[in-house]
Amino acid sequence: MRLSRYFMPTLREAPADAQIVSHQLMLRAGMIRQEAAGIYAWLPLGLKVLKKIEQIVREEMDRAGAIEVLLPTLQLADLWRESGRYDDYGDEMLRIKDRHDRDLLYGPTAEEVITEIFRAYVKSYKDLPKNLYNIQWKFRDERRPRFGVMRGREFLMKDAYSFDIDEAAARKSYNRMFLAYLNIYARLGLKAIPVKADPGPIGGDLSHEFIILADTGESEVFAHGDLVEMGAPGPDIDWDGDLEPLVTQRASLYAASDEMHDAARFEAEVPADKRMTARGIEVGHIFYFGEKYSKPMKALVTGPDGKDAPIHGGSYGVGVSRLVAGIIEASHDEAGIIWPDAVAPFGVAVVNLRPGTAEVDAVAEQAYKALEAAGKEPLLDDRDDRPGAKFASIDLVGIPWQLIVGPKGVADGVVEIKRRATGERQTLPLEAALKVIAG
Ligand code: ATP
Ligand code: MG
Repeated sequence: MRLSRYFMPTLREAPADAQIVSHQLMLRAGMIRQEAAGIYAWLPLGLKVLKKIEQIVREEMDRAGAIEVLLPTLQLADLWRESGRYDDYGDEMLRIKDRHDRDLLYGPTAEEVITEIFRAYVKSYKDLPKNLYNIQWKFRDERRPRFGVMRGREFLMKDAYSFDIDEAAARKSYNRMFLAYLNIYARLGLKAIPVKADPGPIGGDLSHEFIILADTGESEVFAHGDLVEMGAPGPDIDWDGDLEPLVTQRASLYAASDEMHDAARFEAEVPADKRMTARGIEVGHIFYFGEKYSKPMKALVTGPDGKDAPIHGGSYGVGVSRLVAGIIEASHDEAGIIWPDAVAPFGVAVVNLRPGTAEVDAVAEQAYKALEAAGKEPLLDDRDDRPGAKFASIDLVGIPWQLIVGPKGVADGVVEIKRRATGERQTLPLEAALKVIAG
């Protein structure tokens, strides 16, 4: 991509109402534009990052055996009346009437829709287990949309739904998702902490939130003992084995968000020298809820004994759009965003310091073409602007590498490369520079 033809509307200063650093940087980097409270347009740079996160989530879901579907954003209210949640859900649900006066809603989650699909087709335990997932926009009419896409009203969520014959099988499905989540966050360069959580309005009796630590986070984490940051489970995990001991061991923390738990009661249960609190951002939430939806909605399968019984279900959410902001909270400096390579909108910026000078243009062009061929997704900064302004905007938008081409270097047969995360610079012949960037 040539920056002179791209659409990257960076701002020198963030609007005064952006309170947290990720919101400020997303606005300054030209990633999003607010269209209404909690509702955002995704501009090209923001969309690229969003899609990369989405793809990592998709790959890990696929690897864990889940199957992708795409559910509608609008749902029939009658389905929610069947499950009993229509009236309970409250003001967060955006309720809509169509021209025939039928009640619809913009889905805040999709347990009812997926249960309706499941019960239409799956009738036998032989077809289980199944896990269907969906990466789709959700709407929750949050009381206080704030912090940009961190707490939007319209937001992108990955939601997966597991269906099993009994509780033991369902717990295996749950553990599988738990491990897939650890892989997702590790690939995103995040240290996510799984914490036991209150199932809240989704219901059920087993639930974990995945929290990344950040002072600006809205969740309060109450840790019992040492805070353990979780890595990826690694390739040697036996997906089908009994993962319960591993999950229990990895999730030996307790957490609460302010609304959900009674902090005083919690602290009473934990010795004073083991207590600590931290703030964090909830980037995922998983639930095992058993027959909560299958019973009222009659999602039954015939078991080995020939009898029909409700399936045991779980649901598994990842806040895909919130993760864009969460990654920025976890990875930035005074100059701007520092994208982990896995989600960077461009892999490298080729900064031409003297566009219009034939020899400089030729080297910049050659570097750009080579990086493109190597799959490094280069952005060619061919703008007619001061070097300082170019560096500032490339640092701001967080591109992991800069390859800087200027008249002096070209005369000496070298270019300069800079790693965004460390600020480390090297001056090298082009071929050598390309090798370093290619890793
Ligand atoms: P929160 O406590 O932050 O409101 P939640 O418990 O209501 O989250 P879930 O219903 O579990 O959220 O949704 C799954 C994931 O979707 C959450 O872990 C979070 O990452 C994301 N999410 C939820 N609400 C929002 C929102 N308003 N804006 C952006 N992402 C959200
Ligand atoms: Mg919520």
